[in-house]
Amino acid sequence: MTKLIASIVTVGEELLIGQVLDTNAAYLAAELTRLGIPVVRSLTVGDDKEAIRGALAEGMQHGRLTVLTGGLGPTPDDVSREAAAALIGSNLSVDADVLAAIKRRFALLGRDVPAGSERVASVPDGFEVLPNSKGTAPGLWYEGDTGSIVVLMPGVPHEMRAIFSEHVIPRIRALRGRSVIEQRTLLTAGMGETTVQRQIESESHLLDPGVVVAYLPRLHGVRIRLTVTGEDASDRLDAAERYVRVKLGVAVYGCDDDTLEGVVGHLLKWRGLTVAVAESCTGGLVLDKLTNISGSSSYVMGGVVAYSNVVKQHQLGVDADALEQFGAVSEPVAMQMAEGVRARLGSDLGLSVTGIAGPSGGTEEKPVGTVWIGYADDQGTRAVKHQFGRGRRRNKEKSAIAAINFMRQILLQS
Ligand code: AMP
Ligand code: MG
Repeated sequence: MTKLIASIVTVGEELLIGQVLDTNAAYLAAELTRLGIPVVRSLTVGDDKEAIRGALAEGMQHGRLTVLTGGLGPTPDDVSREAAAALIGSNLSVDADVLAAIKRRFALLGRDVPAGSERVASVPDGFEVLPNSKGTAPGLWYEGDTGSIVVLMPGVPHEMRAIFSEHVIPRIRALRGRSVIEQRTLLTAGMGETTVQRQIESESHLLDPGVVVAYLPRLHGVRIRLTVTGEDASDRLDAAERYVRVKLGVAVYGCDDDTLEGVVGHLLKWRGLTVAVAESCTGGLVLDKLTNISGSSSYVMGGVVAYSNVVKQHQLGVDADALEQFGAVSEPVAMQMAEGVRARLGSDLGLSVTGIAGPSGGTEEKPVGTVWIGYADDQGTRAVKHQFGRGRRRNKEKSAIAAINFMRQILLQS
């Protein structure tokens, strides 16, 4: 049995001009990989019948499965059905059941059946209908004599996902020739890409050579994706994960869909601790992130956005001398902010951020991107300095992440 491999085709002028981000391709690539079907190519074409037919034909040459989204709407610029019919040399005809389902749908909504519904209900002979529980245009499934499979789905992301999960996944699961591919992505914060890589490769003879390691940096930190193929993939992945965790220690905060704030929330809840936050340059972003977690009211007390020195003094008790002598962006002020917010809000932990977000406001001694993060608990107070870059928004994001990560690392150590 030949191995199942897949091509993705996304259709739409809006994708080619960068007006709409191609989230369908990303979704399908992740889902197919999870199903054990490697995706070997992904192609985007405009609303052109010949280009679509060509992309489908190429897809069929490259692997057994070709999955297309887009171009199935009611307007004349949607020509994926015509292209698919041309591909297999068949004709389009209106499917009475599909048309009836569309009419029922609009009757229920109390609306007239829109023009173009007959187009939406047209099916190339040889294709089977995959019902759309979220909209009108159904998906279409073709399985040729040689085993080649072509799947067409509408471009609207939530409709495409519904058809894919309700109808395409069960059919794909029934196919033979799928591989076992297992992936896990470990998430790190506070360590640069080259350091992460160097640590992991420092004793690479201890790492299974069949494990493919990929480094994916982003603002939050570096993600490490581990991929293993084969029947024993799961155990080998567990072993590789243990190796990476030993190498990187507390820099690893979770895996796959974990979030830093979710992990910290879990730690705080588990330890029965509450936190309050004093924010200057982040303007409330730390609290925004912490409160994105459902149930955070059990450990987030609240905070003070102390953007001006007056608020730092009056609401947090930062002393005028420290502001005068060291400046608002300094270790003593960060520490006093953390202590002040902890004392005034009555929380177990106090966290603070003060920095120069930029792009203006830097000096030679304290360039743009200088950020101090403070932390106070019943054991004492400490602060750490970061030097980020020049972009204001990025600096705010990085500062908020660094503050939450600082608290996480202290919680793990104490
Ligand atoms: P269509 O099925 O081609 O009529 O697409 C309908 C709408 O779905 C488009 O106007 C886009 O907003 C959206 N869409 C189409 N293709 C994609 C894609 N690959 N990724 C994300 N959105 C898409
Ligand atoms: Mg379109």
